[in-house]
Amino acid sequence: MANFRTHITVAAGGSIAATAVCVQAGFVDHTQGLLLIALGTLAGILPDIDSDHSIPTRLIFNVISVAVAIAVLFALPGQVHLLYLLGTALLSALFVRYIAYAIFAGITEHRGLFHSLPAALLFGLATVSTGIHVLGWSLHFAWLSAGFVSGGYLLHLMLDELYSVNFMGSSIKKSFGSALTLFTRSSWLSYLLLYAAVGAGFYLLPTPKGWISL
Ligand SMILES: [Zn+2]
Repeated sequence: MANFRTHITVAAGGSIAATAVCVQAGFVDHTQGLLLIALGTLAGILPDIDSDHSIPTRLIFNVISVAVAIAVLFALPGQVHLLYLLGTALLSALFVRYIAYAIFAGITEHRGLFHSLPAALLFGLATVSTGIHVLGWSLHFAWLSAGFVSGGYLLHLMLDELYSVNFMGSSIKKSFGSALTLFTRSSWLSYLLLYAAVGAGFYLLPTPKGWISL
């Protein structure tokens, strides 16, 4: 399989090229372009959060634990004691970083659900939803960002597949077919839920009226 450096390099290269096209065509301005590059690059390492103790997993859980600590600081009423406030924020961050992380690592299997086509679509749909409901993006930009997230994600899965083919001896390693999965019988229920979530996302999320005139 491809390593972290390969993934991040290819994802960044692909995102920069695709963004250049979008900027040239006048779909996005430069600030939005930078955001698209960041999204596409991050999505290129996202599938490997299911490999325990990998760099992406640690990185993503570090970011989440800091975000949770900040959220706790804002959520608690202002009149509580400062020491109590900081203590609760610290404990929440530690909980996410160590306990939630351990649970996540325990239930996810490397190259399981996260290395599948529906997962790539679902992260794209989550981007649309977060973009329009939380960040106040326009519909066009939200869907374009989703394209970058799903695209970067799929690029990762394809790279994993490519690396499982041994070019020299033209033999195929055991891992072939385990990266870009559509469905596995052993975890049928999880796949069913995943596809249901993707279907619901496409059904419920608003789409731009004139697709062509971005
Ligand atoms: Zn991978």
